[in-house]
Amino acid sequence: MSTDCFICRISQSTTSRITNDDLPSYDRPIMSDDLFLAFPGLGQFIEGYLLLSPHEHAINLGLLSPKSTARFFEFKQAISEKLSNSFGAPIFFEHGAASSKTLPPCCTEHSHLHAIPMHLAEPPKAVTNELPGGRIDSFDEVRRWAKERRPYFYMELSDGAQYLYEATKLPSQFGRRVLAELCGLPDEWDWAAFPYFNRMENVQHQLCKNPVRNYETNASVFRPTHRLPGEVKHSKPIARVPHSH
Ligand SMILES: [Zn+2]
Ligand SMILES: [Zn+2]
Repeated sequence: MSTDCFICRISQSTTSRITNDDLPSYDRPIMSDDLFLAFPGLGQFIEGYLLLSPHEHAINLGLLSPKSTARFFEFKQAISEKLSNSFGAPIFFEHGAASSKTLPPCCTEHSHLHAIPMHLAEPPKAVTNELPGGRIDSFDEVRRWAKERRPYFYMELSDGAQYLYEATKLPSQFGRRVLAELCGLPDEWDWAAFPYFNRMENVQHQLCKNPVRNYETNASVFRPTHRLPGEVKHSKPIARVPHSH
């Protein structure tokens, strides 16, 4: 847990550490369990854009334990179904930094998987032409790279195919730049310039049963098939900081 991390703060709203009234309505989780949470991302160039994170403040998803990884894939599947019903099947990507030194400028150190409802038959040329790497059989490969502290760019298409690329020097918001361009919205990659708060509110409305006022009563709680108590530690509330991812 980091005292200046916006994801840790959103995470804490899923416990009673802070109340939802302390968070802007668009920032609230649309789904969470004991290990993970999902919430609308700033910069909805496509409506339905979400970020999925572990509650635990760790730099990349490749560092999750095998058990937590299995749980994350269940959580991701539930999110995928939810998005498919309302906005369309998503593709996923992660800027997997190896340390804060290899983070692109303006990126948070709290791992997060981007989910964007859009269809791609294959990874974008802007990725395959720029970065060495390719298709992988399982997320174990990501875990291996993370263990070796190799910064990576991970992508998963809506058919479930997984891709892993070397990413020693990525520009800020690389995945968003590439996908916004493919959507014909090349100017809208920057979440700071095009946050689309109204779309975030709409995502909240669509994906939660009711507009969220109180997390406990309105957000859906994902029930995993197995539990790993004690893996997540929450601590004190923290001050609000601007988003960066
Ligand atoms: Zn954090
Ligand atoms: Zn990111």
